[in-house]
Order: sequence, then C-alpha cells, then structure tokens
Amino acid sequence: MSQSLRCLDAPGEIVLVHWENFVRTIDELAPGKKVADIWFRKLRPLSFDGQVLSALAPPTAFVEYLLNTHGDLIRSAMDAAVGKGVELSIVKHDPAPEEAPRELEAVHLQSPELMPAQEPVRANLNPRYRFDNYIEGESNRFAVASARSVADTPTTTPFNPYFVYGGAGYGKTHLIQAIGNQALRTGSLRRVVYVTSEQFVNQFIASIKTKRTTDFAHMYRNVDMLILDDIQFFTGKERTLTEFFHTFNSLYQAGKQIILSSDRPPRDLEDLDERLTSRFASGLVTELTLPDYETRVAILGKRADEHRANLDAGIVEFLAGHINSNVRDLEGALLQLIAQSQFMRRPIDLDLAHQVARKFAPTRRRQVSMETVAEHCARFYNIPLVDLKDRGRKKEVAHTRQVAMYICNKLTRHSLRGIALHYGRRDHSTVIHAVKTVEERMQVDAAFRSEVDDLIRTIELRA
Ligand code: ADP
Ligand code: MG
Repeated sequence: MSQSLRCLDAPGEIVLVHWENFVRTIDELAPGKKVADIWFRKLRPLSFDGQVLSALAPPTAFVEYLLNTHGDLIRSAMDAAVGKGVELSIVKHDPAPEEAPRELEAVHLQSPELMPAQEPVRANLNPRYRFDNYIEGESNRFAVASARSVADTPTTTPFNPYFVYGGAGYGKTHLIQAIGNQALRTGSLRRVVYVTSEQFVNQFIASIKTKRTTDFAHMYRNVDMLILDDIQFFTGKERTLTEFFHTFNSLYQAGKQIILSSDRPPRDLEDLDERLTSRFASGLVTELTLPDYETRVAILGKRADEHRANLDAGIVEFLAGHINSNVRDLEGALLQLIAQSQFMRRPIDLDLAHQVARKFAPTRRRQVSMETVAEHCARFYNIPLVDLKDRGRKKEVAHTRQVAMYICNKLTRHSLRGIALHYGRRDHSTVIHAVKTVEERMQVDAAFRSEVDDLIRTIELRA
C-alpha cells in the first residue's frame, strides 16, 4: 500500500462507487468496530485508474498507523469490493490556501471552453457498464434489444428519447451507460454525457450561484447524446425542471439522442410538465423488471468470474434462489461472500452462503408456522407428514418428530403445550423431553448438529 501522491482528479462516478463499496465492505468485515467511521469515512475518494484507488486524508490523519494496524482488513476489503490486487493509496492533504475544496467538489464534467467541437467527450461513463457483461433474459429482453438499437443507430432511431424505468437495482444505470459506451466505441457519436439527475440539479444550482448558467446551458445543449439517470429526482425542483425542459427541447430539435431513466413510467412522474412527459412517451418507453431465476444465476456466474471467485453451481443456485429483491443485493451478497471467505480464511461453502443470504433477505423472515416446520422435517427425513402427527412409535418417525418439536420450540412462538398438541400429544413434557434429547445429541454429534442447523436455516429462509 503506497502512500504516493497521485493525480488530484475531481472524483468521477466510478471512484465514488468503488469508494462506497470499499467503505461498506470495511463495515461488513469489521462490524461494530467503527473502523469505517473512525478512519475511512473521513477520507475523500480521489481517483481510480484500474490499479490504484486513491483517497485524500486530512492533514492530521495518522496514515501510517492506519495502514499498519488495518493493513489486512484494507487488503481484504479492496480485493472484495474493488478488485483483486488493487492498491489503496492514501494521500495526506497539505492544504495550500488557494487549492482544492472547489476543485475537489467540482463535478466531473468539462466546461465548454475545454470541449472543442471535434474532441470526443466521454463524461462520467463507467467503463464497466457494457452490453457484453449485461445478461439478457426474459425480464429485460425488449429493453436490451431496443437499447442496442439506440446504441448502434443513435439519433436516427425512432427510439428518441429512450426511456427506461424499473425498481432500484434492476439494472437501469448499467443499461443506459452501456448505450453511451457502445456509441462511443463504434465511433458513431463523439460527445456523450452521462449525468445523474442529482448531479444535474447540483450543477445547475452551482451555475446560478457562480452566474454561469449560460455555460451550463451551452454545455448540455452541445452534446450528441445526453444520458440522464433517475429523473424522478427532478420532481418538485421547479427551476431545474424549466432548465431541463429547454435543454431537452434544444437537443430534441437538433436531432440529438436523449436517454432517460426513472423509477416509474412517465405518466407517474408528478410535477413534470405534461409537455415533457408526452414527449417522453413519444419515443420509446420500456420497463425493466426483476430478473427471473435463470437470469439471476447467469448474472451471478458472470460476476463471480469477474472476481475470479470459483463458486460451486450449488452456491450460485442457492443465492439466486434466495435473493430475489434486486440485482444489486445479489451482487452485494456475492461480494460479501467473497470478502468473508477471504477475511475469515475459510472456503466459500453453503454454510457461509446461508449466513450471507440471511443478511440480504431479512424482510423475508416472517413468523414460521408449525405446519411449515412439520412439512420441512417430513420432507427432509423422507417420511409421510401424517405419520409425524400420528402417535406411531416407529424409530425414524419418533426421531423426526423430536427434531420437529425442537425446531418448533426454537422458531415459533407456540407454547410447549401448543407444540405437543400439534403432534398429537397432550402433554407438554413430551416436548421438553424432545428438546432435551435433540440438544444433547447435537452436543456430541457434529454431523447431526449441522443437519439440524441446515434444516433450521432452510425453514427460516423459506418461511
Ligand atoms: P439501477 O440503476 O436500476 O438501480 P444498476 O444498473 O445500478 O441498477 O444495477 C445494479 C447492479 O446490478 C450493477 O452492478 C449492475 O452492473 C448489475 N446488473 C443489473 N442488471 C444486470 C444484468 N442484466 N446483467 C449484469 N449485471 C446487471
Ligand atoms: Mg441507477
């Protein structure tokens, strides 16, 4: 981990994303220790060149101490969150009075005088967001096909504007940036600008303060392709909306390509001028939905390859099956799995996957019913469900019934008597006996313990 001074670029989107992932991973690897708060949240991300992620420390920071005491943690978090072998470089800041804050907060866009008409402009695009690593499936087939056609024939396509909407983490940003990256790669366009609506608003406000609104307008009206992300953020921002309205019209009339994303369809963007939303609807409006199971498996496989993590098919299928909130969570779980395995120096197995999945599916942990427990136990030990509730005393049945009672006691809120009744017993002492038997055996029989633990986890996740 070097401490060399690297270029003081204004932080682009990519740096911020990597930095955020890195700090979050530190938090996850050292939970409760506040390492992230005490050290890393006080640093400012500076630049990332694929090999080195650099951040700026305040002049008073004990950088050497930090690197010495938390070197391993930093290494694991960098490997998992940013990329294998990527170095962290912490630059200690010596503020020269006229330097920095302004420069550092400047948004990563060039001003018009730095944008001579012939020069290609590639503002803010993350090179990782491409079509070749965007997995297609039923949930996004149409959105991807139309996005590709926009990328290949921008400005002449009837899909102008191209409007994509869908829930958080469904892949909107990736898709719309892929259009920009592709259009630049094929050379069909030279000036592509990606901006989040939040950045757009902040830049606009800053330009009002510095009396440079003309520059602002000029800059955005002179691009070949404007990609504006999360435009639901504009709602309620009157002045920005007016400015955007003019930008939109000017680009549209000049036949430039406009690409928009939002968490909802145009008609649900309250406060947006009717004239705007009907323009949006006149291009192409397409929805991204949650990728289905097969697509989730494919996405995980691809991402695991990118991280050079060798995951068993069983693990991939388990994660894809249990994490169905959105793709971001799916990726988050994968990163955590890799990070935990590196940090704790243990292999990625189903056990670890269970632990991680549990964190990512907390809202799905509803109250477990006794019926669910009984069904799972019967299926797991391969005995008929009716036998479990019967008074029969066959050995396997009795054994399964005890395990089921033990799990009911652990996972449900039912009383001992309630549990007994569910299994056709009248006396709660049967349950006490079952719990005791199972606990004792778990203490001496590791295989049995892991069997029961597995069963519990499965039930919790499926409930
Ligand atoms: P959104 O902008 O809709 O909130 P993102 O585009 O940021 O979602 O996607 C979240 C993460 O999931 C990103 O890392 C992205 O690369 C990944 N992702 C989403 N959809 C896909 C897909 N179909 N194939 C590969 N990666 C995907
Ligand atoms: Mg997004």
